[in-house]
Parts: sequence; structure tokens; C-alpha cells
Amino acid sequence: MADLKSFDVAVIGSGPGGYVCAIRCAQLGFKTAIIEKYATLGGTCLNVGCIPSKAWLDSSEHYFQLGHQFKLHGIIAEKVRLDFATMRSRVQAVVKQTCDGVAYLMKKNKIEVITGVGSFIDAHTIAVDGKPALKAERVVIATGSKPSSLPGVSIDKERIITSTEALILPELPKHLVVIGGGVIGMELGSVYARLGSKVSVVEYTDSIIGTMDRQLGKELQRALRTLGIDYYLKHKVTGVTRNGDEVMVDAENLAKNGEQIKITADYCLIATGRHAYTEGLNLEAAGLEADNRGRIIVDEHLQTAVPGIYAIGDVVRGAMLAHKAEEEGVFVAEAMAGQKPHINYNLVPGVVYTWPEVAGVGQSEEELKAEGRAYKAGSFPFKASARARASIDTDGFVKILADMETDEILGVHMIGPRIADLIAEAVVAMEFRASAEDLARICHAHPTYSEAVKEAALAATENRSLHV
Ligand code: FAD
Repeated sequence: MADLKSFDVAVIGSGPGGYVCAIRCAQLGFKTAIIEKYATLGGTCLNVGCIPSKAWLDSSEHYFQLGHQFKLHGIIAEKVRLDFATMRSRVQAVVKQTCDGVAYLMKKNKIEVITGVGSFIDAHTIAVDGKPALKAERVVIATGSKPSSLPGVSIDKERIITSTEALILPELPKHLVVIGGGVIGMELGSVYARLGSKVSVVEYTDSIIGTMDRQLGKELQRALRTLGIDYYLKHKVTGVTRNGDEVMVDAENLAKNGEQIKITADYCLIATGRHAYTEGLNLEAAGLEADNRGRIIVDEHLQTAVPGIYAIGDVVRGAMLAHKAEEEGVFVAEAMAGQKPHINYNLVPGVVYTWPEVAGVGQSEEELKAEGRAYKAGSFPFKASARARASIDTDGFVKILADMETDEILGVHMIGPRIADLIAEAVVAMEFRASAEDLARICHAHPTYSEAVKEAALAATENRSLHV
């Protein structure tokens, strides 16, 4: 093994964590290799996650608007027809273009791309597809995550599916049961409900998008009423079975002493979360351990117990989000170069790309209450926004939570039009530790959705909203 090619850094996995880390390593002068088991780069996010789901969300929203909303603008579209195959191939074209872009970036940054499953021979020697392939002074594990199932439910990838299959279905489901009302479940449920499928969401807790500030879930459920989604909240799924082209979902209604229900559909999407993926890495050979949830254990510098081996993204603790993985990729590269990078995990925004969009950053009201923190809240509803009235996007609100004494912004939670982009203003403000009054005194262009942020800040500042 003495004549193996050697690198300063080897990155295993080419998702947003891995490929961004590789680019930053190359920028910092490290001789870098990236190992990816699939033929296309980009990981979950680009191939079967963020990018295809957003492409479906955009296409399906256009279709829904044309059929349902445009008439309110005085645009009458008759005989609107869905070309499902074209919609699906456009999504795949967007995926290809985006993945090709990553391949270009690897080339541009002179990063060596190696295709195959990477595994440890020892802490600094990596095999690819079982054959010794390279030596690296430092290794970054960025192997991501895979969809989880429910106990006793087997995913056949045809009718009982995960998000991966839901993004490339051969046909429009007549009835899609979505198990799990979290971000992925609500985004993909929205896609198919907009395209005309009947969609039923079965959720164990009493709220959709339950990890976000509670008011957001309630408002989202209300705002999505036009999609006609059936909700089975506080329902525990006890079985999912398939009979030919039919899928049966059995559940217990926890609000009614476990009363049994059965839902019959043609597809069932299991969207109950994801788990860290380390299969095939041969962690033991490098002396590495995973925690009880299969995640690689790292310290606050994202270094494992073995010096020179780091892990980032979905395969370690924290939010399973592409931008969190990217930040960690940059962090590790800079730390390896002797710099002193920093990530404020409290300011990693969470976004749901339904329409209306939903986003939050910082602490929720529930978290502040649990902490016993004295805070004040200011809200502004989009129905009071002239910009939102102009576009008929009046569902939702912006809510700002600030410290009662110091006025420092502690959390911003929003639902409404173009919120996915608007949340950046809140992140910037909080990164600079702005007070609600600071935000309230900043000039916002009129008429824009962003005025709702200023108005919510005014509301949090001595209840000084101007337009409600
Ligand atoms: P991944 O993207 O999972 O990449 C890991 C890569 O490692 C994969 O390519 C895998 O093939 C490779 N790999 C694994 N083991 C090996 C090995 N032994 N050898 C070689 N290669 C290996 N996040 C957002 O922030 N915004 C969104 O809008 C969003 N939407 C999503 C929608 C869906 C449907 C899904 C499923 C996820 C979504 N996510 C979103 C989450 C996001 O995709 C992940 O958080 C992100 O991809 C994690 O990046 P990563 O680099 O840690 O891992």
C-alpha cells in the first residue's frame, strides 16, 4: 500500500456538506480528493432532496394557481391539463443541471473525484469499492442520511415509498397517504394535493411541522385548507400493508382511546424522518464510534475521537439541513487550516417550502417559556400588508420574539409569501444581535413583503405597529 496516491484531505460523500468542504479545502491549498458512491455528485440534497422537491413544488404551485387562483386575478384558463411526464422530466433536468454544476466545480478547483464506496482500512488509508485507493492526512466523513421507516413497516419502493421514490413516481397517485406531517411530508403532500391527488396526512403528534413554533403549524394547516388535505393528527400508525395496487394504513386515534381507523390508498409515503448513514464505512477500522442513533460522535470542532478525522452534516448531531451541512463543511476546512471559524447553531434557519412558505430562526415561544425567559412578542398579519393584498397572498404573519429587558431579538417565526427568502433578514439581524427596535428603525422598501418584518418589530417595540 506504500504507492497509494496521497492527499492532504479526503472527503467521503459529495452532498452539500462534502462538496462544499472539498471546495473550501482546495481554496485553502489542500490537495483534496472526494469519494462518492453514486455516479452523480451532490448527495441527497441535489439528487433526491432539496432540489427535486423544490422543482416539484414550483411546478405544482404554477399548476394549482392556474386552475384555482388565476381567476381571482381575472385570468380565465380553460381546459388546463396536467402533463405529468413533462413535469417530471423537467424536475430531472433541473437535478442533472445542478449535479453537473458540482462536477464542474470539482474540476475547476482541481479536486480529484473518485467514484465508489469509501471505507476505512485504517485512520488514514481509504479503500474504494473494497480496494485500497488512497492515503490522506485528514479525512472528512460526510456520508449523510437515509430515510427512516416505522417499526414493522417494510418499504417496497413501489407503493410504500420514501421521499426518494415520491420524487420520481411513474404516475399521479389517486390517493396518497403521507405518514408524518413534518417538513418533507408537508412539502411532498402539498405537491400531490396541488396536482389533484387526494392526500391524507397521518401524524402522531397534535400538530403538523411540530418541531417549529406551534403557531406556524396551526396557521399552515389553516392556510392549506384550499388543497383539501385530510389530517389525522394524534394518530399512531400500527401497520401499512400492500395488496396489489392498494395500500392499507391502519392507525389508532390517540384522542379517542385508540379507536382504530383504516385508510386505503394507492400510494403511502413514509415521511417519519431520516437517520445518519454510515453503512460500508468500516468505522471500526479507523477506531471510530457512532452514538445510539447511528450518528458519528464529534466534539465542538467537528473532530471525532481520532485526531485528523472529522465528520459533518446529516451524519452528525444537529438539524438535518443542507445549509447546516455546508456551514460545517467550511468550518472543518478552515479549522484544519488553523483558522478559528464559528457556527452559531441557534441561527440555522428552518424553512418549509409549502405555499404559504414557513420559516423560523432562533427560539420558539415554547422554548422561551420552558426556559422561563421573560420575552415579548410582536406580530404582523399579511392580510394587513398592501403588497400581500396585491398578490392575493394574505395568509400568514411574521412574529418577532424579543427579550423583555434588553429588547434583543430571540426568535423570528414567519409564514406567508416568499418567507424562505425573507427569513435571511431575521438571521442577519440576530447574527448582529439586533434589538427589535433596531429592526423597526430600518427603512424597508414599500410595498414589499419585508415590511411585515419591520411592522412585527414595531409591534414588539412598545406595540408601535403602524398598519394594524
Ligand atoms: P447527503 O446530502 O446525504 O450526502 C451524502 C453523500 O455521501 C451521498 O451522496 C452518499 O451517496 C454519499 N456516501 C454515503 N456513504 C458513502 C461511502 N461510504 N462512500 C462514498 N460515498 C458515500 N435541506 C435543506 O436545507 N433544505 C431543503 O429544502 C431540503 N429539502 C429536502 C427534501 C427532501 C425530500 C429530503 C430527503 C431532504 C431535504 N433536505 C433539505 C435535507 C438535505 O438534503 C440534507 O440535510 C443534506 O443533503 C445533508 O447533506 P450531507 O452532505 O450531510 O449528506
